Amino acid sequence: MFKPLKGRSVIVTGSSKGIGRGIALRFGLEQCSVLVVSRKFSEAKAVATEIFAAGGIAKAAEADVTRQADMEAMARTAIESFGAIDILCANAGIFPAAKLGIMTEHDFDSVIGTNLKGTFLSVAACLPAMKAKKGGRIILTSSITGPVTGYPGWSHYGASKAGQLGFMRTAAIELAAYGITVNAVLPGNIVTEALAGLGDDYVRNMEASVPMRRLGSVTDIANAALFFASDEAAYITGQSLIIDGGQILPESLAALEG
Ligand code: NAP
Repeated sequence: MFKPLKGRSVIVTGSSKGIGRGIALRFGLEQCSVLVVSRKFSEAKAVATEIFAAGGIAKAAEADVTRQADMEAMARTAIESFGAIDILCANAGIFPAAKLGIMTEHDFDSVIGTNLKGTFLSVAACLPAMKAKKGGRIILTSSITGPVTGYPGWSHYGASKAGQLGFMRTAAIELAAYGITVNAVLPGNIVTEALAGLGDDYVRNMEASVPMRRLGSVTDIANAALFFASDEAAYITGQSLIIDGGQILPESLAALEG
């Protein structure tokens, strides 16, 4: 059995809904102290209330990952509320689609700014507390899109998600001496509000291309984040874990029929 994570202080960015909410609830179930972060306080507060109702400890914070001052305030809130930052889940992300030829400079900057620069700013803000404690766990939410696969409309998104892995590898080397690990979860297609917004056709096509014939759940991703946060994963750093029901495996449509 894994050692309990009870009492650890966890920040989850982008946890008012979707995968981040799933991660926050999962750490709440482990009796961690969870800071639920999003740009809308009322939505973050609703998730913090859910964690409380399930017997956990949680607080909500309004913060935008693209703003350095917000990320520093977020880190201060976690320390003032829970006394430390043991685990950071840098999860906040956006995936608006725009094909090349239509994609504007603003579209590109906005996706890179949230997904990649937001990862850097959230990690940078939490580092002083983790370094002082000589330990910490950083878990990035990347994607299969970019690091492994491509999808029309998501060249900027894919670049941001692959960029997170480049960031992770050097961060893992720099932070190893402080006992801080940096790893990434790479979700396939996971049932979230944002994914549902892509439409029924998208969802049906994706289900058909997954060998397990279902989309993933936010809990599937949260369980992987929990593993990277565990004491048992202390010697794992700079690694990425694909959680996609086998979606990247088939070489052709025929391979799915067998
Ligand atoms: P979602 O349901 O839209 O949730 C996104 C979360 O991020 C929300 O809580 C949102 O809250 C927050 N957020 C967005 N921009 C933010 C910002 N600038 N500052 C702070 N918070 C921000 O999306 P999701 O599907 O759960 O995706 C979460 C992560 O998983 C993303 O990094 C995404 O790339 C990745 N991912 C998702 C899938 C999937 O199938 N769903 C697959 C692969 C990877 P506010 O709007 O209130 O700020």
